[in-house]
Amino acid sequence: MPKKSNMDKCSFCGREKKNVDLLIAGIDGHICERCAEQAYSIIKEEVKKDDSFDLNSVKLLKPREIKGFVDQYVIGQDQAKKILAVSVYNHYKRLTQRIDDDETEIEKSNIILVGETGTGKTLLARTIAKMLHVPFTIVDATILTEAGYVGEDIESLLTRLLQAADYNVEAAQRGIVFIDEIDKIARKGDNPSITRDVSGEGVQQGLLKLLEGSIVNVPPQGGRKHPEQKLIPLDTKDILFICGGAFDGIERKIANRLNTKVIGYSAAKNSDRIERENMLQYISPQDLKSFGLIPEIIGRLPVLTYLDPLDKKTLRNILTEPKNSVIKQYKKLFKIDGITLEFEEDALQYVVDKAIEYKLGARGLRSICESIMNDAMFDSPSEKIDNLFVSLEYAEGKLNRSNIQRLKAS
Ligand code: ADP
Repeated sequence: MPKKSNMDKCSFCGREKKNVDLLIAGIDGHICERCAEQAYSIIKEEVKKDDSFDLNSVKLLKPREIKGFVDQYVIGQDQAKKILAVSVYNHYKRLTQRIDDDETEIEKSNIILVGETGTGKTLLARTIAKMLHVPFTIVDATILTEAGYVGEDIESLLTRLLQAADYNVEAAQRGIVFIDEIDKIARKGDNPSITRDVSGEGVQQGLLKLLEGSIVNVPPQGGRKHPEQKLIPLDTKDILFICGGAFDGIERKIANRLNTKVIGYSAAKNSDRIERENMLQYISPQDLKSFGLIPEIIGRLPVLTYLDPLDKKTLRNILTEPKNSVIKQYKKLFKIDGITLEFEEDALQYVVDKAIEYKLGARGLRSICESIMNDAMFDSPSEKIDNLFVSLEYAEGKLNRSNIQRLKAS
């Protein structure tokens, strides 16, 4: 029991009971709410200091296992999955096997993914980061500009990684950065610019030093650097960069290259074998160069792979197969209200057809489903029903009544 004289005081700050909101009693003393909060923040701070990043905590699965994991979330895209699995495996192997006996240094293998928008580039990168439990961030290349111009400094993409790592520098130094829309910083026109190209080539030049690995001073709060801000040095040599872009129109460049190549020797035979449908599968670094990426950037993104356009069958699978597919999510939402939700196969096909008709791709599946399910989600929690069947007729009715036009791709 606390002594009588101490009964009404905080044993830490001495404040009396009447001056505090809360006084918690211990065996031989008291603590007020302010001191408890302060103690908690001290503990948090100390624990953080000890929380150095343990590379062994990165679960190093073998390439087949990596692909197996990714298969649970991403449908199709086998080629991209295989290539990603191997390069991620090699990347983390390189980090764990630092001690060199034969001086062979394994080089970093940053990756570039080329594929139409909405085919799963970001999803692939995000899934891999989830599997590895490493900090992960997505940055849109279009917001980056050369230092001194309107927009964000290139270093700000590392700020986001630091933030994702909760400012644990060691963890951030082994994280993954996904740079989206890398095609948007392509050089405009084939010739090197005479005037400054602020948002294109300049940004590519700026990215170089990040991709190859160097110590970069990162503004902890992001945005623009200013003189008073304390910068955090971050070594990028072990950060894996995955770039993604749609590279609209690159098929033409691939086709041109393939045609010029086949002329002269067994042209007919070769072109027979070329699948005109999906030219991206023949993509090579040269095509990225003709598109406007500078050779130095291409050199620092040595792993190049492509994503297939999503066909009907893939879209249909995306609706129900991934671990957190749209349909599984609806079922779960309804289950919480005690309602069993079922979909007619034709209704699912209808959703896919509409996504194709409106050129919305996989991203559109969700918005179409939302339009169909909205009324049911509004009404059913108040109604005493224990199951709901979404038939083709029901789906058509709801979608026709919703303002479907707004879903059309502009
Ligand atoms: P991208 O980065 O290629 O533009 P995203 O990865 O952002 O496309 O895909 C958008 C959404 O579409 C994802 O969140 C996911 O729900 C769905 N999606 C796209 N492709 C696939 C796929 N291959 N497998 C499963 N879902 C996909």
